[in-house]
Amino acid sequence: MSHAYSVAAMTSPAARLDTIRDGIAAAAKAARRDPAGITLVAVSKGRSVAEIEPLIASGQRDFGENRVAEAAEKWAGLKSRHSDIRLHEIGQLQSNKATVAVALFDVIHSLDRLSLIDALAAAADRAGRCPGLFLQVNIGDEDQKGGCAIADVPALAAAIRDRGLPLSGLMAIPPLGLEPAPFFALLAKLAQREGLAGLSMGMSADYRAAVMLGATVVRVGSALFED
Ligand SMILES: *Cc1c(COP(=O)(O)O)cnc(C)c1O
Repeated sequence: MSHAYSVAAMTSPAARLDTIRDGIAAAAKAARRDPAGITLVAVSKGRSVAEIEPLIASGQRDFGENRVAEAAEKWAGLKSRHSDIRLHEIGQLQSNKATVAVALFDVIHSLDRLSLIDALAAAADRAGRCPGLFLQVNIGDEDQKGGCAIADVPALAAAIRDRGLPLSGLMAIPPLGLEPAPFFALLAKLAQREGLAGLSMGMSADYRAAVMLGATVVRVGSALFED
């Protein structure tokens, strides 16, 4: 009986995608925003090509990975078959991976220090192209979390712009276990001060709140890939 029940309760990847899209649309409507201004990134880190393919078949085109080697291995074939896929780097990036990252990713969300900005600028110069860039902010001032200090946002944003790189906006992950909305609101305020339109914030548990507070990119993993 319990087995039959769990099978009956399973949803398809396409149904989960619809649920998240509906959630984004409802939150956008509540905030009087156009849902077309919000990009859903399906976070596929740790997921197999077989798990990813049904989402591509359902029309999903933006995917997020956190490790360069894993992303390269999984996406070389998928990207050649679906040339309109956009791959997003959402994990901490080492400067010595800048060349590979520039070749592989369409958007990098985890820029957070001057040495990485310089490495990316050099790699982009050699490649003749640069991914879209988000500056990651350690919005909860946590130890051992990626992202720059809030106080460093103006200088790092200026450094990115000084090098002629395309800065789209700010990215953050609020502290686990705390109400995320104040952190989303703070990130929105910091972006506004810098004149930046892009806000990469919101995950499976809180993407609706993020959309209500201005997210232009939400990064959703488990709610898309797990029942
Ligand atoms: C894993 C991850 C996500 C997705 O988290 P879920 O809770 O599974 O939706 C989003 N952003 C970043 C930076 C991540 O590492």
